[in-house]
Amino acid sequence: IVKYTGVTKSFGNVEVLNGIDLEMQPGEKVAVIGPSGSGKTTMGRMLMTLEEPTSGTIEVDGELLWHMEHKGGIVRANEKHLHRMRCNVGMVFQHFNLFPHMNVMRNVTEAPRKVLGLSKEEAEERAVTMLTKVGLEDKFKMYPSKLSGGQKQRVAIARALVMRPKVMVFDEVTSALDPELVGEVLEVIREIAEEGEMAMMLITHEMEFAKEIADRVIFGADGKIVEQGTPEEIFDNPQSDRLQSFLQRFR
Ligand code: ATP
Repeated sequence: IVKYTGVTKSFGNVEVLNGIDLEMQPGEKVAVIGPSGSGKTTMGRMLMTLEEPTSGTIEVDGELLWHMEHKGGIVRANEKHLHRMRCNVGMVFQHFNLFPHMNVMRNVTEAPRKVLGLSKEEAEERAVTMLTKVGLEDKFKMYPSKLSGGQKQRVAIARALVMRPKVMVFDEVTSALDPELVGEVLEVIREIAEEGEMAMMLITHEMEFAKEIADRVIFGADGKIVEQGTPEEIFDNPQSDRLQSFLQRFR
């Protein structure tokens, strides 16, 4: 469902990713771990089309994410194509990124109405299902500022799910939460994972969670995928020095 081929990314002259090849199967849960600054977030943001690779290609569901066209002599991404491809991927961010001036229901219904063109009723019907799934059926009218971090993050998850993406990217979604709120968010992600339909990329520092949820774990460092394998291979039998010393810190 997802295929990165030779993907590099530089910001100015700093190379953050240096030749990433990665395939994800439909429904596959892939955890991405690695030291801070190793480019994990950048990998996820590229899948969400928030960043463009410097070179290489990314495909989702057999189609190139960045489909270029000539316009007035300049080569640029085809906006219509990008718009359509964007709907295939949902993302949940570390800092929630909810719309502060909209209540919970509007936060969740905005994209299906504006992007998918659903009617208010259709969008609300979908939103009720998703908000119930994340345990917020009594919070439709609340504004983000009145919610706990865990509740905000669950709204953000419902907002991404309501678009029915083929792939979800969870980018360190518990890092900004108070420790006592981490559990409720992980529980929601666990339930979504168990339904099994969507491919999921879980960028995380929660090693126990990665171990439990992931079909495959990717360890990235210095802009490369250093090691990948089943959770047992990665956590119980790490091969590279780099991964061994990284895991020491979580013991
Ligand atoms: P963390 O675990 O700390 O979130 P990460 O592995 O997710 O780290 P990224 O957030 O992808 O790493 O960042 C990789 C590097 O790229 C960092 O050094 C960061 O400062 C740099 N970087 C990311 N985005 C930009 C940007 N828009 N402009 C310039 N540099 C950037």
